[in-house]
Amino acid sequence: MKIFCVGRNYADHAKELGNEVPEEPVIFMKPKTALLQSHTPFYYPEFSNELHYEAELVLRVCKNGRYITEQQAQRYYDAVTIGIDFTARDIQAALKKKGLPWEKAKAWDNSAVVGNWVPLTEKLLKNPIHFSLKNNQTTVQVGDTSHMIFSFNQIVSHISNYFSLNIGDLIYTGTPAGVGECVVGDILEGFFENEKMFELEIK
Ligand code: MG
Repeated sequence: MKIFCVGRNYADHAKELGNEVPEEPVIFMKPKTALLQSHTPFYYPEFSNELHYEAELVLRVCKNGRYITEQQAQRYYDAVTIGIDFTARDIQAALKKKGLPWEKAKAWDNSAVVGNWVPLTEKLLKNPIHFSLKNNQTTVQVGDTSHMIFSFNQIVSHISNYFSLNIGDLIYTGTPAGVGECVVGDILEGFFENEKMFELEIK
């Protein structure tokens, strides 16, 4: 199982971190050990002093494939949820400054959270999907798929030009503006439309 992540897929988020809006999807990966298993506590990573949440819609791959066209792409994912691409922002800033890879900031154990899966239907995909994240009951991020720079289908197609997609792979589709710091004791709650998909305490 592989975890793909898209960076800078919402223009307002790219801007808040001082990044350019990309011309093609920015893709990075997390290993399967990054996936936080349900009922496993989430611990603040000891190597960071600036842990950020990034709430994102996550797609679940349901079909193996390579060189998938945008037109065919919808057949390759069958479920969606909201998740968190946890980021050690201090580590990432240091790596970016040196032009080094991001894995130590992004791909560590338990850095990928997923909520409950929602089966994708034609009807659901026809309209923009809304999602949000609350930290200690305050809404901190609001996302809307109509604001994505690259659509689900463009992302799937682009990834498949470089990597095989396999059943069970996950794709984090990017975070909207509002990323921020979290500390021990914070309670993060992810909502898909108005339904709560996960609740997580930072331990
Ligand atoms: Mg992200």
